[in-house]
Amino acid sequence: MDREALRSQALNYIESGGLLHDLRKLVARPSVSQSEGSPEDLRAYLTDDIGPLIEGYGFETSIYDNPLPDGPPLMIARHIEDTALPTVLIYGHGDVCNGEAHRWRDGLLPFELKQEDDRLYGRGTADNKVQHLINITALGLLLKANGQLGFNVKIVLEMGEETGSPGLREFLADNRYELAADVLIASDGPRLMPSIPTVFMGSRGAMDIDFTVRLRDRDYHSGNFGGLLADPAMLLAHALASITDQRGQVCIPQWRPNSLTDDVRRTLAGLPHRQHDPNWGEEALTPSERAFGWNSFTILAMSAGTLTAPQSAISGTARAIGQLRFVVGTKMDEILPSLRRHLDAGGFGMVTISCYGEPFKATRFSLDNPWVRFVCDSVERSSGTKPHILPNLAGSLPNDMFTDILGLPTIWVPHSYAECNQHGPNEHARLSIARQGIMIMTDLFLDLANNPPQMT
Ligand SMILES: [Zn+2]
Repeated sequence: MDREALRSQALNYIESGGLLHDLRKLVARPSVSQSEGSPEDLRAYLTDDIGPLIEGYGFETSIYDNPLPDGPPLMIARHIEDTALPTVLIYGHGDVCNGEAHRWRDGLLPFELKQEDDRLYGRGTADNKVQHLINITALGLLLKANGQLGFNVKIVLEMGEETGSPGLREFLADNRYELAADVLIASDGPRLMPSIPTVFMGSRGAMDIDFTVRLRDRDYHSGNFGGLLADPAMLLAHALASITDQRGQVCIPQWRPNSLTDDVRRTLAGLPHRQHDPNWGEEALTPSERAFGWNSFTILAMSAGTLTAPQSAISGTARAIGQLRFVVGTKMDEILPSLRRHLDAGGFGMVTISCYGEPFKATRFSLDNPWVRFVCDSVERSSGTKPHILPNLAGSLPNDMFTDILGLPTIWVPHSYAECNQHGPNEHARLSIARQGIMIMTDLFLDLANNPPQMT
């Protein structure tokens, strides 16, 4: 089938209401993985909603129990033509955040798709239902039209992304051979601008750090003991303040990345700037370099005493949770030891530190990787615009599951935008992005069938 015929089929899927019809059904399932949800709905999304849709295009599907007790089920869909052909792994998540119906504006309900001009409102529209629907449909239309793809496809869908992907790591490791592929091409997260495609190859890492100064197991009167007993809150404030300077520039040498190469700088040079304070962050860098190519430290929360009812007392304890966002090149297992040395050298031996929660690893793929060039070139040809190319997202994803466990180059082509209100009320997808998105994916899959990248 020629490209123009397939493109017009894809366009017709959008224009004739096919996407609206499919997305309405997907959104109607309250597949919430957070507190408001039920395990039955998570499973039903796979068995009754997305599963039949995928099978209708001719893919085989299997549903798996989560390797962790109480974890939600997962699905692998596949179409294997010839093991000599390249294999693409597609990832998506069918679960959504709490609906929080009371917070949506009048006339909108989280689990009822509603179109208002270009916007398609509903919980999970943007994150992530329309995004995997577009990729599955682009593949499905190609398979139906041609009877074959010209490459192999494996699709993995999880139902727990909004609660930290429980069991996904173990599932990928257990099914390492089943999921063997040449590249991950997936869609999640936002474009930098609604009208221009974005391609990103990884994400910044993140580590939350618990800082505690505990000097005494009770508070002491600040009149009787002020000036005599050390104040944990003041000590903690000084310790935290020593981590960056007054404009937030990181002062710990091991926390400053060495990976902002000329290559990365060139890639970031043409990107639109997002909102930023000119007097904050690494002074010598552009805003894009600060967000995508550098590390930043933030205090997420801090406390001593009771803010709503302060007492005339020296707290026994002060505590803060800080967070380092970091790019590749910062050694994750050196983050805490170098902080310890820095605090000790500054006289802050009384501050105890520990990792808080699960850290995210930083990942990034070289723009010279043949798969990266292949996807970026294809997206540019299809859309007629140079895509915004990010070596990594500024935010964090468990992308290392795909790079480290499955050993894949990871290429993300998001079909949403930053103002989509994902995770909040009035979440919506944009029809115009969906239209361009399905064209991009159709062209990309055709390019892969006709002219796959040559590995050297
Ligand atoms: Zn999300």
